[in-house]
Amino acid sequence: MNNIDLSNLIFPDINKSIEYYKDMYPSRNLDESAKVTRFAPSPTGFVHLGNFETALINYILAKTSNGIFYLRCEDTDQSRKVDGSFDKIVDVLNKYNIKPDEYEFNNNIVGNYGPYIQSKRREIYHTFIKYLIQIGKAYPCFCTKEQLNNKRKKQEQNKERIGYYGRHANCRNLSIDEQISNIKNGIPYVIRFKSSGDNNKRFDFNDLVRGIISLPENDQDFVIMKSNDRLPTYHFAHFVDDYLMHTTHVVRGEEWLSSVPIHIELFQTFNTKHPKYIHIPLLLKKEGNNLRKISKRKDPEASMTFYEEKGYPTQAVIESLMTIINSNYETWHDNNKDKIYLDFIFSPKKMSATGGALYDIEKLNNISKNYISKLSAKELYNRVLNWSKKYDKELELLLKKYPEYTIKIFNIEREQKNPRKDFICFSDIKNQICYMYDELFKEKNYEFDKITDHKEIEKILKTYIDKYYDINDDKDTWFNKLKLLSEELGYASNIKEYKLNLDKYKGSIADISTVIRVALTTKKITPDLYEILKILGKERIKKRFEVFYLN
Ligand code: GLU
Ligand code: ZN
Repeated sequence: MNNIDLSNLIFPDINKSIEYYKDMYPSRNLDESAKVTRFAPSPTGFVHLGNFETALINYILAKTSNGIFYLRCEDTDQSRKVDGSFDKIVDVLNKYNIKPDEYEFNNNIVGNYGPYIQSKRREIYHTFIKYLIQIGKAYPCFCTKEQLNNKRKKQEQNKERIGYYGRHANCRNLSIDEQISNIKNGIPYVIRFKSSGDNNKRFDFNDLVRGIISLPENDQDFVIMKSNDRLPTYHFAHFVDDYLMHTTHVVRGEEWLSSVPIHIELFQTFNTKHPKYIHIPLLLKKEGNNLRKISKRKDPEASMTFYEEKGYPTQAVIESLMTIINSNYETWHDNNKDKIYLDFIFSPKKMSATGGALYDIEKLNNISKNYISKLSAKELYNRVLNWSKKYDKELELLLKKYPEYTIKIFNIEREQKNPRKDFICFSDIKNQICYMYDELFKEKNYEFDKITDHKEIEKILKTYIDKYYDINDDKDTWFNKLKLLSEELGYASNIKEYKLNLDKYKGSIADISTVIRVALTTKKITPDLYEILKILGKERIKKRFEVFYLN
């Protein structure tokens, strides 16, 4: 009995060679400088902001080099798989217009290097594992969970390195006959890689973010195929897929950096070059004086659904990530206002290499405010309408009922040199303009300021609407009338004048306009009052004022 017999016993149905697959997936015919990248998420039901950042960088690297960006579904850990989550990932990419050149979706394969769903590549992995068994570089391990736990405990007690390596790798030394009879007796097993590394030796590794770092060789006989579903582990699937799909650059979270020695050993075993690696820093968040990892459990902003539900424009989310990805992005963007992020030359060296990357939602809010302020009223209307269809039915109805009116509202202090920047995201808008719609106007917490006397308020409002309001007035005329109103009622029409003669007046024109503003909107601070009055129109204004006469 020999390795060949063992390999045939384990994989009786596998009869192709690894050469077969190498021929089936030939080198890509691309320019020397073209980068082949992939987004390889695990469908676990949650698209983390960090995952999205990875996708974005992969996409940029491929698009800016005439390369290929493909999407690969890494579903070999079936226990973590959540139904429908791959659809969600595809949705997010679509929404942000990050379109893979090659992918597999709803049984439709686009690209010549598929299947692009790992669970459909079982035969390919088995072919590679079978080959490793044949050349004596992989073996079945029959250790039970309990045995492995005990081993770990012992190693901890003896202050030894934890793991399955060297003399700790018991099943390494089983004879072929033992292995075969164990398998025939139905004893469950995993397949392990037989490492020939030496943990005392180090090698230089060039990470494109960190530069050259020294790493210890791998000597762990890590698991490459699991026992229950016979699917490969991440390590092995990474090697096979990125090898056969000719990935040139792997962008992934820095949590994978410690696995690099394992991956390098796999590539070396097959006498092939490993891809270049870009390990990106963890996204951190400030909490008090400390920085901590953005957490899926604690931080809503860790999930991409947060941005969608809140209605952040996709461009703003991308911009804010770009400022984290490369520290010089912001300056570049300020100097190249009409360019898009794909025009920017991304450089992994300019990523913060150690200590993580600070993610600050306020930064996004700022970028988003600016972005929204530059949209035309019509464009904003369309975007908000689109968002509201999914997230705010009440708003959707109003927007559809009053398109022209709403566009006028959106156009208050917009489409001008220094537009107003009061909308952070689409979900923010309704609250800020609710007073413009009778349907949303809830006359409750009026924020009256200096003038609170009911009789006085009534007098101001009545005089104003009866004598001075005219929808056709231009801004100067309107303001002059406000002055006349102030003087008529004993208020200074000029603030300076008022401050010099405090006891001569009941107050000033500012107090008068506050009364009008608050009566109309309940709020002390709003956009331009003249515009609001003009858009609301006499009927609405009257109705809002009447509340004060009738009580
Ligand atoms: N499936 C892995 C993850 O989601 C991908 C890591 C990689 O890009 O290689 O973390
Ligand atoms: Zn074992």
